[in-house]
Amino acid sequence: MADQKAVAARLAPLGFAQAPAQAHLNLTAAELVAYALRRQEGQLTDTGALMADTGQFTGRSPKDRFLVKDAGTADSVWWGDINIPFDPTRFEALHQKMVAYLADKEVFVRDAYAGAHPATQLKLRVVNELAWHNLFCYNMFLRPEAGADTSWTPDFSIICAPGFEADPAVDGTRQKNFAIIDFTRKLILIGGTGYAGEMKKGIFGVLNYLLPHEHNTLAMHCSANVGEAGDTAVFFGLSGTGKTTLSADARRGLIGDDEHGWLPGQGGIFNFEGGCYAKVIDLSREKEPEIWDAIRSGAIVENTRFVPGTHTVDYANKSVTENTRTAYPISFIPNAIEPSVAGVPQNIFFLTADAFGVLPPISKLDKSHAMYHFMSGYTAKVAGTEMGITEPQTTFSACFGQVFLPLHPTRYAEMLGRKMDENPNINVWLVNTGWTGGSYGTGSRMKLGYTRAMITAALSGVLDEVHFKTHPIFGVAVPGAVPGVPAEILDPRNTWADKAAYDRTAADLAEKFVKNFEKYADYASASILAGAPKLSVEV
Ligand code: ATP
Ligand code: MN
Repeated sequence: MADQKAVAARLAPLGFAQAPAQAHLNLTAAELVAYALRRQEGQLTDTGALMADTGQFTGRSPKDRFLVKDAGTADSVWWGDINIPFDPTRFEALHQKMVAYLADKEVFVRDAYAGAHPATQLKLRVVNELAWHNLFCYNMFLRPEAGADTSWTPDFSIICAPGFEADPAVDGTRQKNFAIIDFTRKLILIGGTGYAGEMKKGIFGVLNYLLPHEHNTLAMHCSANVGEAGDTAVFFGLSGTGKTTLSADARRGLIGDDEHGWLPGQGGIFNFEGGCYAKVIDLSREKEPEIWDAIRSGAIVENTRFVPGTHTVDYANKSVTENTRTAYPISFIPNAIEPSVAGVPQNIFFLTADAFGVLPPISKLDKSHAMYHFMSGYTAKVAGTEMGITEPQTTFSACFGQVFLPLHPTRYAEMLGRKMDENPNINVWLVNTGWTGGSYGTGSRMKLGYTRAMITAALSGVLDEVHFKTHPIFGVAVPGAVPGVPAEILDPRNTWADKAAYDRTAADLAEKFVKNFEKYADYASASILAGAPKLSVEV
């Protein structure tokens, strides 16, 4: 058991008058795995990873995410369906209930950082009801150096108790589960859900507020890597579009797979996190060797199942959820760069999984198209078969992550626009990692090897030498040749057997873009609207 005085001092700023009777402080990964196994929170896989279930919730619950609305946030936060207001008095009451709930529990306390750049780094403290959640925090946040004094007053804290359920009528939540951020108390409360990603995305939300608001620093939902020549690339994209997969590239140093900041001026970029959280559905060593090899002792795998009779993970098994995940420290990727900082990006990729099969697999964007696509934040979801819907559905999420943005999306877009003006040589690419040869149902997903080859070509500069053609509807520049990729797949219309169907589907998608953009009418300057798709064209 940890030194009770040290734990009590750490928990006092988090509202604990005294520490829970059984409190562990800053355990090692091996110790946390041992506790998790002893407490039957999970099992070891045959590669030594800890396999755990998140319970009823196998993803975040955006409708149960709140921000405390008080004098500090009332006028700055973009309130609405995404940033749902929560009453400060009720937050305090819920906080006290959680503290009382944890009083007789075994808890795991951890000190960590968020933000690899000292200029904006947050000192964190996390209190977990589950040992495996504390290991998740060890893997995903930045780890203090061995022997560092971490007896700090934290800049932000998390109390996460999946076993604690709110009473909506009394506590003011929507249902039993909740994730609530209070910028005044500098505290995140999470209860009623065991989805560990709520903790990571909670801190992401905090940084998405503090960085632009207080540090003139852009917060981005993107992955990042850097070439041997020091050239930085960032990859924006919504869930499932390939941020994590494509940032793991044997030839480039990994900066991070999901959350980054971009400092003012020539300050460059930095990772917020100390680990990666990769999807493992249908994972194979052949296609994603870096991620496959990272799933070893110290790593966590969530919501997966074993091949019966073995401890081998069956990555094809979707019986719990399609959102199966692994969480590991970034150092588990062989060419990860630590501290995870890099220079101003030379290349920005917008990843989209266009299940309509309309957008070209790679295209180059001018400033107008870049701003338009950044504000649009398009991807498509493949409809769930259980609902009997075969049509894919469009998702538009500003800045490729509007659910994480406490400020209005235009704040982030304006910052990105300014950065592009300050660095006019940045190339911006739109990469469709989704469908080719038809929409979902007819066509197929773009081969990962081809997407990788297209990105490699863009990064190497060979595309500077090729001829580009303008897409008739979307107006983006489509290269005529990419090394390692069959030329006939570069123009999406070419891959459809039924050309008229392509034209119809493309026109429909263009209309959805335009309709979605209507809500930004106030912001839509002529220069941004020049990046919009055309609604009627002669093909
Ligand atoms: P999240 O924000 O939820 O972490 P993400 O953007 O990091 O999402 P990935 O974890 O990289 O998304 O998921 C991309 C998935 O799509 C992986 O399972 C990958 O194997 C698969 N995939 C299939 N084809 C491609 C392709 N052409 N490009 C990228 N990913 C592909
Ligand atoms: Mn990811």
